[in-house]
Amino acid sequence: MLLLTYVRGHAPGKRHQSAHTLWAYKMQPTPVRKCADDLVAVVAAATRLHARCIAAAYGPSTAITFIPSSRFPDRRHPVANLARHVHIVAGAERFALGLGRGIDVPGRTVRSDRFVVPDQFMDRVQGRHIMVVDDTWTSGAKVQSAAVTLHEAGAARVTALVVGRWCDYTRSEHKTMLDSHTEAYDALVCPVSGEACTEAAV
Ligand SMILES: [Zn+2]
Repeated sequence: MLLLTYVRGHAPGKRHQSAHTLWAYKMQPTPVRKCADDLVAVVAAATRLHARCIAAAYGPSTAITFIPSSRFPDRRHPVANLARHVHIVAGAERFALGLGRGIDVPGRTVRSDRFVVPDQFMDRVQGRHIMVVDDTWTSGAKVQSAAVTLHEAGAARVTALVVGRWCDYTRSEHKTMLDSHTEAYDALVCPVSGEACTEAAV
């Protein structure tokens, strides 16, 4: 999985900027444009500056999709716009996952019926390396469910690109991790290695 940032969720006092950005970029009815633009910049920079690192680690993606939701079932989903800004190699295709019967089954369980691959997109999935984009990783159930769906449809490989890992500041293990990572987001830090990246500067 490619994880771009950590989110300081449930922080005491004012909502932390990282949590605000991921929430407000898809706020309805009026998303905050600045937050959406910031996330687009993060996704575009990470996938462009580190394109070689990502391809070396995971292989080139041949198709890109995103995690839909029942609130935003189609390409109007704010995360679809993030997926649109993933820097891709020439020839990679895009497609949309559909919602399955199990989309809103409560509980953070991995289920192959939360999503479906529409028949018209099967040829973009079978035997391919799919990159799945989501804005937030909380339990990971959505992204992992989509990965199962794609594998069952015949995908050769699935790589997730997640903008923010939602951490809970009220949980001691998350608090310890968040308190040890206070530096601002830096696009030159490699999403593959987690280190400052010489490839990115070339
Ligand atoms: Zn890199």
